[in-house]
Amino acid sequence: MRQLAMKFGIHMPQKGGFAKNVERAARIGCRSVQIFAGNPTSWKSPLLNPEELKKRSEVLQENGISPLLVHAPYLVNLSAVKEEFYHKSRQLLRETVERAAYMEAPFVVLHMGSHRGMGFDEGLELFASTLKTESRHWPEKVQILLENTAGGGNSLGGSFASIGYVLKSLKNDLLLGVCLDTAHAWAAGYDFSTSEGFKELIEEIDLHIGLENIKALHVNDTGTPCGSHRDRHAHLGEGMIGEEGFTAFLRYPWPEDLPAILETPENGTDWDIVNLEKLRFYAGANGESLPNSREN
Ligand SMILES: [Zn+2]
Ligand SMILES: [Zn+2]
Repeated sequence: MRQLAMKFGIHMPQKGGFAKNVERAARIGCRSVQIFAGNPTSWKSPLLNPEELKKRSEVLQENGISPLLVHAPYLVNLSAVKEEFYHKSRQLLRETVERAAYMEAPFVVLHMGSHRGMGFDEGLELFASTLKTESRHWPEKVQILLENTAGGGNSLGGSFASIGYVLKSLKNDLLLGVCLDTAHAWAAGYDFSTSEGFKELIEEIDLHIGLENIKALHVNDTGTPCGSHRDRHAHLGEGMIGEEGFTAFLRYPWPEDLPAILETPENGTDWDIVNLEKLRFYAGANGESLPNSREN
């Protein structure tokens, strides 16, 4: 069964130290994890030397966890109107990608930011051209995954068409992929709480993005109505997407080894165990896939 090969994991808290958190994640059955490489809401990255970062990749390897996903800080906005924020965003993303490379993380997950009034088309153009210019400074082994957002207001990346536009316009310049967030898709107006709705979602993604470009999943339930453009993650099955939606979503024949990360509230608590159990339950995983019988 292909769905058993998905690599379930959690977004790890920073508190408690990297090694301890990785060991715990492995213990509760994670096969991939996501982290912030610095402070997600600050322009300043804490000082971490390359040696320290390289050690992290060893810790991951020892615990059988791969891939590591690095989520870019929320402040990064490659289509910022204000010169100061635009330059700071480029710099911060550059540092994030460098850190990811030291940790041997193949993916950096990036939100597409906000056009702040310049208009969607101009915002997307600026976002794409900035990515192209910046990519010259990045280590080649790191791939940027564009994450779909809740949309609304000036925010970019709420529609799969807009993400598809960026992928197409850069297809000869750099290797991009997509990280699909269930709560954000819901907030942006894609109702997949039923299996029919899920089928439409998949068709829409395939049309604009191409399913082969989905490189990671963020599996979150949500406390806000479909199309509300508001983002409030909830524990699986306790929000509005619910059991039928997640069952359809997780039983879809996604590619082997696709990382599926929980960004549910209170990561780092017993809730992780509950949510991981639910992931396996919705995916139809049987006893074989339970934590102590992980592959490798
Ligand atoms: Zn995100
Ligand atoms: Zn997400």
